[in-house]
Amino acid sequence: MAESGAARIERARAVVAQLKKAYPEAACSLQYGTTHQLLVATILSAQCTDERVNKTTPGLFQRFKTPADFAYAEVDELSQMVRSCGYHNQKARSIQGASLRIVEDFGGEVPDNLAELVSLPGVGRKTANCVLGECYGEPALVIDTHMVRIMNLLGFVQTRNPEKIERELSEIFDRDDWVKLTHLIIDHGRAVCIARRPRCGDCVLAELCPSAVR
Ligand code: SF4
Repeated sequence: MAESGAARIERARAVVAQLKKAYPEAACSLQYGTTHQLLVATILSAQCTDERVNKTTPGLFQRFKTPADFAYAEVDELSQMVRSCGYHNQKARSIQGASLRIVEDFGGEVPDNLAELVSLPGVGRKTANCVLGECYGEPALVIDTHMVRIMNLLGFVQTRNPEKIERELSEIFDRDDWVKLTHLIIDHGRAVCIARRPRCGDCVLAELCPSAVR
């Protein structure tokens, strides 16, 4: 029998409750001191592990201290410094270009709304939502690969389109849980619901998950 909207919302609440119990420390694993630094770290994290980014950013933030330092940096130097994160030329161009717009069009402050954030070079919805949720306390859902995979397994969505997933999840999950939800799902994806080898036997969501292999 198809799940009713009310039952789905109830199941979503139960999923969040279980995950909060399992991962009480779930939080953003990128290290940063300022909103601009989080923006830079998030750009670097595309197709790269947070661990690798966290090894790269201390030296980077030591060399370039302010948005203006990044805005007027030599892209080649920036590119060499972020080489280990992959796609380094593209990421260096995005970081320099976004910083330049922040300095010249936004008075040196990272914008606090989605429309302006996604207008920055190299900043997509995922990066923008990460900044809004972490630094500006906005209810924002970050749809990364773990969210795409696990939300499909949990049967809350049947699509891999991040924007559609964001929209559909926003109707199911409590706004107050949106920011935390991504961190909980990332922790669960790393520890238990691992890509291609989910450990359903050890999963706190097994009773709530239509994909559980028993
Ligand atoms: S029951 Fe299995 S498929 Fe479902 S969330 Fe848990 S580990 Fe993933």
